[in-house]
Amino acid sequence: MKNKELARTNLLISIVLVIGFALTAVFSYRANYQASLDNIERVSSLTTEGIYYRLTTMFAKPVNISITMAHDSLLIEHLLSEGEHLEDENYAETIRTYLKAYQDKYDFDSVFLVSVATGRYYNFSGLDRVLTRDDPENQWYYDLMDSSPEYSLNVDNDEVDGADNEITVFVNCKITDTDGDVIGVVGVGIRIDYLKELLGDYEQKYNVQASLISGGGKIEISTDYTGYEQKDWFSVYDREELRRQILQWTDNTSNLEIWTDTGSGSAESSFVVARYIPELSWCLVVEQNTGRLIHDMKIQLYLTCVILITVILIVLLVTTAVIRKFNRQITALVEERQTNFKRATEEMYDNIYELNITKNCYVGKRTEEYFESLGAKGLPYDQGLRVIARKQIKDEFREGYVSTFTPENVIKEYNNNNNHLRYDFMITEDGINYNWMRIDAYILFSEEDQSIHMFTYRKNIDSEKQKELQAATDGMTGFFTRNATERFINKILSENPGTSYAFFIFDIDNFKQANDQFGHAFGDSCIREFTDIIRKHFREKDILGRIGGDEFAAFIPIPDADWVRVKAEELSSALQINYTDQCGSWNMSASIGVSVSPGDGTDFDSLYKKADAALYKTKQTGKNDYNIYSV
Ligand code: GH3
Ligand code: MG
Repeated sequence: MKNKELARTNLLISIVLVIGFALTAVFSYRANYQASLDNIERVSSLTTEGIYYRLTTMFAKPVNISITMAHDSLLIEHLLSEGEHLEDENYAETIRTYLKAYQDKYDFDSVFLVSVATGRYYNFSGLDRVLTRDDPENQWYYDLMDSSPEYSLNVDNDEVDGADNEITVFVNCKITDTDGDVIGVVGVGIRIDYLKELLGDYEQKYNVQASLISGGGKIEISTDYTGYEQKDWFSVYDREELRRQILQWTDNTSNLEIWTDTGSGSAESSFVVARYIPELSWCLVVEQNTGRLIHDMKIQLYLTCVILITVILIVLLVTTAVIRKFNRQITALVEERQTNFKRATEEMYDNIYELNITKNCYVGKRTEEYFESLGAKGLPYDQGLRVIARKQIKDEFREGYVSTFTPENVIKEYNNNNNHLRYDFMITEDGINYNWMRIDAYILFSEEDQSIHMFTYRKNIDSEKQKELQAATDGMTGFFTRNATERFINKILSENPGTSYAFFIFDIDNFKQANDQFGHAFGDSCIREFTDIIRKHFREKDILGRIGGDEFAAFIPIPDADWVRVKAEELSSALQINYTDQCGSWNMSASIGVSVSPGDGTDFDSLYKKADAALYKTKQTGKNDYNIYSV
């Protein structure tokens, strides 16, 4: 696989993994998100319930005890007698002991008593101070006096000596005499730290924000503020839109639950739960926003991305390694097969060359070297082909060689759906000795470079040609057999239309006599002598054939008709000899008939008939002569 394909495969794997992960992430995100929202609702609700019950339990005791003290007849009686004991230390001590007993018993942070008549403020240490209306710190007292409820709660700093002004929740309960007139206020104080701790515990545990707010929206207790600071919950937490709904909620049996945007353009939203606490006349507000959830989900998303990238990298590394290894194995296998194939092919063929026909150039080092070795360096293929033809190919094959393998012809053959070309020719290495060579050329289209390529396989066919020649040759004379003669002549005539050829028939005169007189072996010798004489008068490339027992043919290109006559005369006299050997001596002569192509015919049969007619004429007119066919 090439690098490009490998990259494409890796890209595909990455896309599949990314899509897979993305879908899984989206589905699990949606499911998680909804589950988390449900969880927020549940947690906020339960937290509210929990705090509510803890608070009511927590305040039930101080309220009850304050009320119990307020109704304590001994205390009422004692208070009514205050005017008579203004300077009596024992009087104040009795109250101190009383209050201290409650403080010790219930572990309150403060237990106090205020006399309406004198404004005296007693606590577990004795007389602490006298309340006056002009001191704003005493506002709680005058507020209570001006209001109708039996008791009230307020958050304030404890001004008592030794209390260090710590913020405290006070339960203040009116003491009335038998006429219903308020004669004092008794109450207890609890350090707000307990409440803050309580809220803080819940906030930490359940990731909520909890506040206790008064009927006017003031934060009485939260982990950040106390009523002493006079902070408005709705403006501190930017929840103005909920003011009416929350402050009007006075149901202490169920929660007010609202989903609201956090505002300021963020994607977060908040779930707000409010519960009215009638004992305190306060509202508990618990809020949880999706900020942390979204933050957690973002972290999960980043984590998923990191895992995804890691997984993709690992998968890509593994696939690349596997594919590379697989490729190496495949390449090795292919190379091994190619080597084997090449070896096998090379055993069959002497040389294999590759050419790019479209681009008219050589392909591969070996082909280039071959053309270079013949002086065709740097030349395009078609010119190199001509150089080889001139330097190595035997004359008569040159034209055929070039015209067969020229790029124009190869393209033409390929377009005609022929992808195999063959040409047999004679080639020389040294310019002297020639060998028969066969080129089998295969044409194919290469997708890789969009070109027509040609592979040429060269094979030495000397021995094959030798066998072919032997099969086509008469053993006694070395002339072609009648069939081969006919085939070659027809081939030449068809390949060279318009060229003039002479077709000779030579018949030994009275040959029967020689056989009869001196025996068959003598006859054979005569035939060999006769054909040797003929051979000497022709060139190697002329066709010489034995077409009958004592009948022979010669086929030769001619310049003109006169030349034929001269040649016929020359042969007629050359064949008139006295042949002598150990078996005997015989006067040999030949009768000759000649026809000429294309005038007398353009195929073997026609030429043979005409020449035979001329021969017949020679036989008729006394033999040992020649005749050129004429109508
Ligand atoms: P003509 O002048 O009319 O040609 O008379 P001819 O005696 O040559 O008669 P014909 O051509 O009819 O006879 C040819 C003879 O050649 C007949 C045959 O026995 C003889 N012959 C054919 N082949 C061979 C051969 O291979 N060896 C020998 N010794 N004789 C052969
Ligand atoms: Mg004869």
